[in-house]
Amino acid sequence: MIFSRKTMKMAVIGDPIDHSLSPFMHGKIIEEHGYDALYIPVLVHGNDTAKFTKMAEYLEFCGFNATMPHKVNLLDIVDEADNDARMIGAINTVQIRYGKTYGYNTDAPGMLAALKNRGFEINGADVMIIGAGGASHAVVHALAGAGASSVTVLNRTVNKAKQLTDNIACAQAAALTAENLASCASSADLIINCTPLGMTGVKNAFDDLSFLDNTKAMAVDLIYSPWRTKFLSHAEECGLSVMNGLDLLIYQGLLSFQIFTDIELDLDAEYKYLFPLCMKKLQL
Ligand code: NAP
Repeated sequence: MIFSRKTMKMAVIGDPIDHSLSPFMHGKIIEEHGYDALYIPVLVHGNDTAKFTKMAEYLEFCGFNATMPHKVNLLDIVDEADNDARMIGAINTVQIRYGKTYGYNTDAPGMLAALKNRGFEINGADVMIIGAGGASHAVVHALAGAGASSVTVLNRTVNKAKQLTDNIACAQAAALTAENLASCASSADLIINCTPLGMTGVKNAFDDLSFLDNTKAMAVDLIYSPWRTKFLSHAEECGLSVMNGLDLLIYQGLLSFQIFTDIELDLDAEYKYLFPLCMKKLQL
């Protein structure tokens, strides 16, 4: 591949960064269409978010993605942050145009696109969210904004769930107890695990998944390694429809790519192309 000054330059920054699937995913989009573009992973420490942002402007990058620990830092660094990103409290996509930086969060619309692709109707749905961290913020704002009837956030630290739900009319907070899990699940249409419980390399997992025995909800886990967490395996055994975190990862990436490049993609067609490639890359 021969690069020129016109080549669209993109990156993903994080610490750690080696595990990120984004360079593979964006590389496959570039290769598929033969775009004059490159997308590289860059290890950037938490104190260096602003330094990298300046450098990306100087090097004429058209944008970059950000993962841990940069998503919150960027709110104070970009020239303009989109309203949704401010509300969610995190930026995962920075667009650079004529020396100015614009921050977005594509996790929220990415989740909506992933659910729509699976045929889930959000409007009027009762949603149960487990966890109140960064990913949960994006998911809760997205679902509430898309017309969910109710969004209940269960969290180990109940105050964090309260802070998240305080200004959202259809949302409420609850403690992460077996009783709350069971009663909320029984009337939920959608249950999303937004905690790292069950993730490869994480010691803790759900102690008790019996709350899935008495629900008709669709079960979603933001984790994609392992491919099926115990939460999703149990949901499948109960006959529930399931979705793991790869769908969100793909859709948020496609939306970022559009923001960086101003190229409009057929999102569902790209998803169909990327899903098996990413699955293979994850060696499943
Ligand atoms: P985070 O900000 O650190 O939040 C973690 C949440 O999990 C908090 O609510 C925390 O509760 C809860 N939690 C952690 N350990 C727990 C335990 N032992 N028992 C009960 N609750 C526990 O993390 P995040 O960025 O939101 O990420 C959450 C998950 O989503 C991770 O697995 C991440 O890999 C995944 N994710 C996937 C995608 C994707 O594209 N698929 C995107 C973003 C994130 P407390 O508030 O009580 O600490």
